[in-house]
Amino acid sequence: MKKIAILGSTGSIGTQTLEVVRENGDIEVTALAAGSNIQLLERQIREFRPKLAAVWSEEKANDLKENIKDLDVRIVSGMEGLKEAAVEREAEILVTAIVGMIGILPTIEAIKAKKDIALANKETLVTAGHIIMPLAKEYGVSILPVDSEHSAIFQSLQGGQQKSIHKILLTASGGPFRGRKREELEQIQVEDALKHPNWEMGRKITIDSSTMVNKGLEVIEAKWLFDVSVDQVEVVVQPQSIIHSMVEYEDGAIIAELGTPDMKLPIQYALYYPERRFLSGERLDFGKLTQLTFERPDMETFYGLKLAYEAGRTGGSLPTVLNAANELAVALFLDRKIRYLQIPEIIQNCMEKHKLILNPTVEQILETGRETYEFIRSRW
Ligand code: NDP
Repeated sequence: MKKIAILGSTGSIGTQTLEVVRENGDIEVTALAAGSNIQLLERQIREFRPKLAAVWSEEKANDLKENIKDLDVRIVSGMEGLKEAAVEREAEILVTAIVGMIGILPTIEAIKAKKDIALANKETLVTAGHIIMPLAKEYGVSILPVDSEHSAIFQSLQGGQQKSIHKILLTASGGPFRGRKREELEQIQVEDALKHPNWEMGRKITIDSSTMVNKGLEVIEAKWLFDVSVDQVEVVVQPQSIIHSMVEYEDGAIIAELGTPDMKLPIQYALYYPERRFLSGERLDFGKLTQLTFERPDMETFYGLKLAYEAGRTGGSLPTVLNAANELAVALFLDRKIRYLQIPEIIQNCMEKHKLILNPTVEQILETGRETYEFIRSRW
């Protein structure tokens, strides 16, 4: 029996991870962590019987304790609780399906406890990749990508050699506003931006996909996962989301992973790597596939992507500023406190005013995140 823990079990990736667990029947879930959805968490606890469950708010953790007092499950809360879930003794793999930089500390603890990481929480690598990747090497743990593009790259690298990578072709759907110009985005409302053409995801990443900041975060994520420069990562818009990404080797050969858009594939691949298992669901039918098209990204309209390249190239604390500014700007947009086009505007403003720290420690990363939040709150 494989044993796993999941941070963010009530979210889009978390619930799909549990579907994979349910369908396979040979994985034990030893710890679950969620933010505030204790109704769903309770159902998950009753079905999967973890030893430990973490809830962010102490009050909700107490409510949950009361609701499941018939079960033998330890309930913990806050950051200490998240860390406890991340290092639950029996788990071999930690699935980081939590959203945002809040994932940094628990991921570090899990690596130190020698857990392999099935990583969905890209914000952790974007901001602290220079700490996470060497730490994983030091402790001999694998960082297994869950993001579909990075899983595709990882799969395309099986049998190839990392040192022979010429470039990575990171595919993007282009989001719901592909083809529009900046002035056509002025009136965009939350409901418009939450409609992704191909993927059902959490709210934050759906907005990030519409601004293409998500693709920018993925460029930086790829840099850390595959040890390449950001300029070796080329974004290719592939609106049908059939090609999930590609690797171009030095001899010009390109290896890609294709399939219908279904996050359960990369999740299952990460959990069972290197084994491949049967996965139910729709298969790609080339008889029905009418077209595969490609475009270059429009980095003038979606200049959040350009800002991410800049942050990735500069490195140090700048990716943290990009990420933190984006996290808060997206939250403000979802709360209808700012306009859609203010998201990249805020990111740019924060990046311009930041004093770079070259090789930030974890504390400096968290402090940079806090400062960025304060700066935004004082102005918008
Ligand atoms: P969701 O918003 O759907 O889920 C986020 C999860 O994190 C929820 O379980 C939420 O709990 C939990 N959470 C939030 N804050 C806290 C907290 N303070 N403490 C503990 N748990 C918390 O996000 P997604 O599943 O869409 O995304 C998760 C990560 O995976 C992101 O980094 C995203 O970029 C990445 N990703 C997602 C993809 C997708 O298809 N969804 C694809 C590729 C990457 P609750 O709901 O109970 O508050």
